[in-house]
Amino acid sequence: TFDVSRPWLNRVLERQPKAFLKAAQDITFAIDKGETFALVGESGSGKSTVAKLVVGLLEASAGEVRIDGIDMRRQTPSSAAMRDLRRRIQMIFQDPYASLNPRWRVDRIIAEPIRAFGLEHSRQAIAARVGELLELVRLHPRDGQKYPHEFSGGQRQRICIARALASRPEFLVCDEPTSALDVSVQAQILNLMRDLQDEFGLTYLFISHDLAVVRHMARRIGVMYLGRLVEIAASGDLFARPQHPYTRMLMEAIPDLTMSGRPRRAVEGEIPNPISPPSGCTFHPRCPLANDRCRREMPRLGRANAGSSTVACHAVEEGRADAGP
Ligand code: SF4
Ligand code: MG
Repeated sequence: TFDVSRPWLNRVLERQPKAFLKAAQDITFAIDKGETFALVGESGSGKSTVAKLVVGLLEASAGEVRIDGIDMRRQTPSSAAMRDLRRRIQMIFQDPYASLNPRWRVDRIIAEPIRAFGLEHSRQAIAARVGELLELVRLHPRDGQKYPHEFSGGQRQRICIARALASRPEFLVCDEPTSALDVSVQAQILNLMRDLQDEFGLTYLFISHDLAVVRHMARRIGVMYLGRLVEIAASGDLFARPQHPYTRMLMEAIPDLTMSGRPRRAVEGEIPNPISPPSGCTFHPRCPLANDRCRREMPRLGRANAGSSTVACHAVEEGRADAGP
């Protein structure tokens, strides 16, 4: 059997520091076809680790990653099912330059997955498909003749999106796809991603530290803190009635989110070292509602009383968290 490797994905992974053990734990979420599910949290919260687990760039030590009912961990890497999953799941990274080979022309970069997955065979068919992909991301087919350094950051991210779409995927894992871009360019890329989602029925796992971006993109949102999910809710519920004290802290740090004129408050405290996390609820050193139980006992995700939220917080469970901002 021939294993389709993902040379460019591997290249990106090599540049990243080795993920620490247990960077993410007890992460359970499901994403419906055609929906955008977002993971938010500060850097070090384990969002990128989850992304890499989902695309198979990292292997989970326990648990399962199921795509359409197929458990990725139970497949041999060279199996036909795995090969097909690698075609159907693609990833877009924060730094569009680091994932583009600077010595390759853009047409070769976009053609690589088409060849690797054997989707087109003749030179003409590959060239035609590359041109089509460039147009899909609102670039010109002639741009294929240039090198990555000849493009702006936003254009490079368009090239990465074109390459991700080249294998006709169904599921895109997007790790901070616009965080390296100017705000004006961010909106263009986000809108492009939404248009492409509508056109091709794509499913997105969208990872960001930026709640304003996530609100624009996602139907459901999971908030991560120190490698754990602390709250999952429909986007509307999360912004209207954030339940977890950490989610509330994040919301209060967003400028003008509600236009309420409420003063913006910085997120307080430092994110602790994930290798030696605090006891009990790992948020307790930063939490205004922490008590003895919080310092001893890790809260589990459970339904909140209000809305669609699932929350891991003793105060919410005990009804001693107030009703929100
Ligand atoms: Fe705060 Fe306790 Fe809830 Fe953790 S469990 S977020 S420390 S109230
Ligand atoms: Mg990250």
